[in-house]
Amino acid sequence: MLINGKCHCGNIAFTLDWPDASPEIPARACGCSFCVKHGGVWTSNPKARLAVSVRDAALVSAYAFGTQTATFHVCARCGAVPFVTSEIDNHRYAVVNVNTFEGVDPSLFRHGSADFEGEDRASRLARRARNWIADVRVGEAGSPEKSAPAKTR
Ligand SMILES: [Zn+2]
Repeated sequence: MLINGKCHCGNIAFTLDWPDASPEIPARACGCSFCVKHGGVWTSNPKARLAVSVRDAALVSAYAFGTQTATFHVCARCGAVPFVTSEIDNHRYAVVNVNTFEGVDPSLFRHGSADFEGEDRASRLARRARNWIADVRVGEAGSPEKSAPAKTR
């Protein structure tokens, strides 16, 4: 299933290729202090693929706090937060905000909550490497392959 999403103004857009074998989409309301203030509700699947396209990179604010291991990509124009990345052993993982999906039947969402307060750094990174989206591309609009890893031809 291909899911399209974007921030409110459209500066940050993405396509999420969700595995058909997992029709339900977990939607976790995160209990961290940032997500409480932003209403962040996240999903991920280790077999999903995420392609992000940014129109104006100067209008994307990268925000990190706490352990500094996750980066919230905030649209500086409209304030939406479509995705979060975490670099683990030189690999980029991501989760996406279901509130920025476009045209997805809300009955597919399996709502829950998550609170990782008190989790130590090592278990946090190990959990992300297991559960977060592992195939992540972020590019400028018009050249989505720009930052793609080299492919064997
Ligand atoms: Zn925006």
